[in-house]
Amino acid sequence: MRTLEVIQAEVKACTKCGLHASRTNTVFSRGNPQAAICIVGEAPGEDEDNQGLPFVGRSGKLLDETITQLGLDPQKDIYVCNIIKCRPPGNRRPEESEVNSCIDYLDEQLKLVNPKVIVALGSTSINSLMPANTLGITKIRGRFFKYGKTPLIPTYHPSYVLRNGGKGPVFDDFKKDLETAINKTKE
Ligand code: URA
Repeated sequence: MRTLEVIQAEVKACTKCGLHASRTNTVFSRGNPQAAICIVGEAPGEDEDNQGLPFVGRSGKLLDETITQLGLDPQKDIYVCNIIKCRPPGNRRPEESEVNSCIDYLDEQLKLVNPKVIVALGSTSINSLMPANTLGITKIRGRFFKYGKTPLIPTYHPSYVLRNGGKGPVFDDFKKDLETAINKTKE
């Protein structure tokens, strides 16, 4: 059985797509690989590329604050990663070919972490983890689907929540969906 450390080392040396040429660091994960909840975002931004850790910028702050408000510890109680392990230049959306090059790493990562629930943040994550879905995010957020045998709940990306002021109805839905995911781990 391959380990997370082996996959992380492979990612660090990866040149499968063009993003390797402009990266400062690969970005594999943060949090606890034994956690019951795995949160999957899109791709590293500038802060993540600089630090080699996912969700350490403004979006990550909102994510951690919300998780804390819901009574969990962002270091101990969640595992955080992305669909794409290298920053797309200028934070553009990852291209389909880049997702295709990278998705096997995430698939192995999710199998090894084996969480009780996966939270998919935003449309890149949702479309990559639920390729058969054709519905928009507002129709499917907060409902349970499956990734393999693991329950998966889609919700908004925290950067979208921030673009909507970081509070109000979009934040309330985001928080509610994270709470639904947390409750699922207690079943
Ligand atoms: N946005 C993401 O989707 N992932 C990160 O790690 C940071 C910002």
